[in-house]
Amino acid sequence: MPKKKIVVIGSGFAGLSAATNLAHKGYQVTLLEKNAQFGGRARVMESQGFRFDMGPSWYWMPDVFEAYFAQFGKKVSDYYHLHRLDPGYTVFFGKDDVMTVPAQMPEIEQMFEHYEPGSAKKLRSFMTQAGEKYQIGMRDLVYKPNRSVLEYASVSLLRNMLKMDVFQSMRSHVYAHFKEPRLRKLMEFPVLFLGATPQNTPALYSLMNYADLSLGTWYPMGGMGEIVKAFVALAEEKGVELIPNAEVQSIECAGAHATRVHTAQKSYDADVVVAAGDYHHIEQGVLPATHRQYSPAYWKNRTMAPSSLLFYIGLKKPLPGLTHHSLFFDEEFDRHAEQIYARPSWPDRPLFYTSLSSKTDPTVAPDGKENLVILVPLAVDLPDPEEARERCYHQVMDRFEHMVGVGIRDAVEVRHSYAHSDFRRDYHAFGGNAYGLANTLAQTAIFKPSMRHKKLANLYFTGQLTIPGPGVPPTIISGQVVTGEIVRDWPI
Ligand SMILES: Cc1cc2nc3c(=O)[nH]c(=O)nc-3n(C[C@H](O)[C@H](O)[C@H](O)COP(=O)(O)OP(=O)(O)OC[C@H]3O[C@@H](n4cnc5c(N)ncnc54)[C@H](O)[C@@H]3O)c2cc1C
Repeated sequence: MPKKKIVVIGSGFAGLSAATNLAHKGYQVTLLEKNAQFGGRARVMESQGFRFDMGPSWYWMPDVFEAYFAQFGKKVSDYYHLHRLDPGYTVFFGKDDVMTVPAQMPEIEQMFEHYEPGSAKKLRSFMTQAGEKYQIGMRDLVYKPNRSVLEYASVSLLRNMLKMDVFQSMRSHVYAHFKEPRLRKLMEFPVLFLGATPQNTPALYSLMNYADLSLGTWYPMGGMGEIVKAFVALAEEKGVELIPNAEVQSIECAGAHATRVHTAQKSYDADVVVAAGDYHHIEQGVLPATHRQYSPAYWKNRTMAPSSLLFYIGLKKPLPGLTHHSLFFDEEFDRHAEQIYARPSWPDRPLFYTSLSSKTDPTVAPDGKENLVILVPLAVDLPDPEEARERCYHQVMDRFEHMVGVGIRDAVEVRHSYAHSDFRRDYHAFGGNAYGLANTLAQTAIFKPSMRHKKLANLYFTGQLTIPGPGVPPTIISGQVVTGEIVRDWPI
């Protein structure tokens, strides 16, 4: 019998994970990617001897990557070398107010004691609970397809759910444990990855503190692009046909089925279609209007995770006094958050983050030089003209140079900026979003856009706008979950 044909649209981690898993199960899989490079938001930019990871730079939850490769009898170390960062990262609260976060828990506890006597004990209890949430989350929740609320109808799961603090906010959970403002900011920081504020994020996500402080911050030598290379190599090994420069323009439907996928160059018959590009774009822009399942109003009412302004900077001199990852929390967190969510506007005093992987990895910059990436979170849907980017660059640089104590603007050899219109052009990102949909309570689990299309029996979605959510590990899992759904509905 001929194999069932599956077309996967998009080569981010979700698309690569789904395609590889499906090929491994015996389907004939073709993956179509609009860009020349695979990897989606995790693409790499090379410029004058500097290499920049364009998107993700924090390698968290190493267990998820290991579990991914283990499905195929492989290990992470078969593909790339992981290095645990120590210190994990640095937080600048002011020029002479810098917190360096060690890699190991005993040193982290000492650091907490230094900031707030008695807090090490509280941290231990916080982390025990966070660890339990992480275990329950990974075992019972993130791999659920969320077809129906009945998936949660088991007594032991419901009992465990009570431990998960779904109805308390992350802010009140953190504030109940710690008084010192800097420790509070440190403990609230990981939820920024989820694209929402600590006030709107359920305390369930303190599991992210476990990922941060206990599981640690890692770095794949060569850069995050090495993970993409590994995923592509494995996909090819499993027989996936990967086609770059192949933008899907439309999906043809007959009755309740998607039948063909069209690019400008070629059309592809499909028994099953997996949409791994931005959900909103495929659903509202690629499907025929008759087969859309959500209205424009539905999308307008979603809380999107922020967009970002990024600067990829090649410096012609070394940059002392900075670690691989640095967070600049010297301005009011809530003020910037308000300018992202409540009153979308360009921030006047933005928080920002810098990545300097050349501190760990000599291959990403020429000798004696550094590759600096600056990330400023911004509201989605803002106009991003050159003047606004430039103004923000100097706002950030003024503070950066002051706090680090080194002038660098005159040492900039390479500079590229990247914001909303680039996200739209490159990924068809809704509102120019960087990280998909915010993980608020109203957008968690069954409340996310559905993985299975409600009108077309053989169309599925995967990636950061559906379950389990944004981030590299969740999108890898998303590709695994959609595979389970397809195997169940469309057995080989
Ligand atoms: C700046 C930035 C920093 C981040 N930092 C981190 C971090 O440090 N750690 C972390 O874990 N996560 C981080 N993330 C989040 C993480 O990168 C994403 O959640 C994840 O990579 C998204 O994967 P995806 O497969 O869902 O989507 P994408 O990576 O966007 O992949 C979708 C793909 O579909 C393609 N596509 C879209 N439309 C079409 C079409 N019509 N035809 C063909 N192809 C199409 C796109 O070109 C793209 O390649 C960051 C993201 C950004 C942007």
